[in-house]
Amino acid sequence: MINALKDLSFQVVFEAAADAMLVTEDSGDIVSINPSAQQLFGYAADELNGIAIETLIAPQYRKQYRYYQEFFFNEPVKRSMSVGNELVALDRNGKEILLEVSLSPIKVQHQLFILIRLNVAHERFEAEEALRISEERLRLAKQAAGLGILDYDCNRNIVYWDKQVRELWGGEHSETVSYEEFVAMIHPEDRAARQTAIDYAMDPTSNGEFRAEYRVINPSNNAERWISAMGRVYFENGCANRLVGVTRDVTEQKNAQKKLQAHRDEAENILKQQVAARTASAIAHELNQPLAAISAYSEVLLHALHNDTTNSDSLERALKGCVEQAQRAGRSLHELLAFLQKGELVTERLNLNDAINEALSILCNDGYEKFCAVLHLEKNLPAVQCNHTQVQKALLNLFRNAVEAMRAVNLPTLTIETAVQTVAGASVAIVTIQDSGPGLDQTTAKRIFEPFFTTKPTGIGMGLAISYALIEANGGQLWVDPDAKSGAKFHLTLPLAPDHA
Ligand code: ADP
Repeated sequence: MINALKDLSFQVVFEAAADAMLVTEDSGDIVSINPSAQQLFGYAADELNGIAIETLIAPQYRKQYRYYQEFFFNEPVKRSMSVGNELVALDRNGKEILLEVSLSPIKVQHQLFILIRLNVAHERFEAEEALRISEERLRLAKQAAGLGILDYDCNRNIVYWDKQVRELWGGEHSETVSYEEFVAMIHPEDRAARQTAIDYAMDPTSNGEFRAEYRVINPSNNAERWISAMGRVYFENGCANRLVGVTRDVTEQKNAQKKLQAHRDEAENILKQQVAARTASAIAHELNQPLAAISAYSEVLLHALHNDTTNSDSLERALKGCVEQAQRAGRSLHELLAFLQKGELVTERLNLNDAINEALSILCNDGYEKFCAVLHLEKNLPAVQCNHTQVQKALLNLFRNAVEAMRAVNLPTLTIETAVQTVAGASVAIVTIQDSGPGLDQTTAKRIFEPFFTTKPTGIGMGLAISYALIEANGGQLWVDPDAKSGAKFHLTLPLAPDHA
């Protein structure tokens, strides 16, 4: 040993030590505290001398220290508290310090003193604190998301479930349960689908992900709850050995979904009823005209028979009228049904000028003859591509409405002006039909294409709705002119045949 060191006193070494140290009597009272320890606790030496060491230890660790001290006195040899038995002390400001403590006996003239060395377990303490915080965060996040944790040990066939899951399942349960007991609480109808999802996730060739929704039945009151579960299977040596997952109560969402579905079904039913009603109205609309004509012809026939004024020509004309109208009604129904069933639209090249003349002559045969038709037809009009019958039906509806509107106001002359033209650069032909009737006020103009909208006492309100749909189905448009100066003015377009477009 270097000679100079022989003279070093205990006190000098004690004061110089970088480690925090203090000396206590066997009673536990502090008799000396070195500068490092003073700095650690934030006290001056004279503030601590004579005070019990326990005062520096956090209350919940005092018992542990006492026990350790007693143990030391039974056999006073050098000892350090083993890892994991650290103490928490408090500094002057009440801040916790995790300390590893070692005790060494010092005997001076039959009196036993204890040299206590304190080592601050910073890193461990911080790591534990961080773990505690992250566990707390996880707990709060789980709570906020309403998640429970399930851990299935496949080898031992045991399911560990946390408090949240146990609460969801209902009833009284311990922390672990056999897999069979666990499955027994799942709704019988949902077990197979859930097991398929488990089997798939446990297949080592899968990615191990598990997802399922199933119901559980509370054994105490038979109440059902919907559970959404997701998790991951862990494999060892190619075999599934653990499934860890989270569960969530989705009963409210499921109930909301059910309600929504019930509303959808109800809305669909109403829609179906509406479609049925509209179809019936459309059929009525198609039959109205021919049935009225057949009835009129039949009355003429009956009258002639009763009065013995039968002449074979008029009889034949009336009968022919009946036959024609009945056939027309049949054709109309057939086409209407094809249209409603959205069958393939058969189109042809059509000369719109001819179609307009044809519609006007049908109108006259139907008893709408007393009006003046003014035509502005474009010469050499290119053909349009459309379904002849459907376009004719739309034109007839427009002409018929025009005559009915003009008749309703007892005008001396009823005029329908019809113009057909093409527009340079546009690949459509435009038909404009204007009558000299009362026209449309703003509210009526807004609603005329609505099904069932009618202002006529015996009207059905389907004519314009059908016409609109027919023209649209043929690639055109139908609209009412809001700027008509007098009477009602309608426009419709139809696409030109491909070689003219
Ligand atoms: P309906 O003829 O059975 O009433 P429509 O759908 O063909 O059904 O016509 C709907 C309504 O539009 C008519 O009741 C009428 O009020 C109005 N309307 C249609 N065309 C004209 C017109 N040219 N002039 C005035 N009002 C019309």
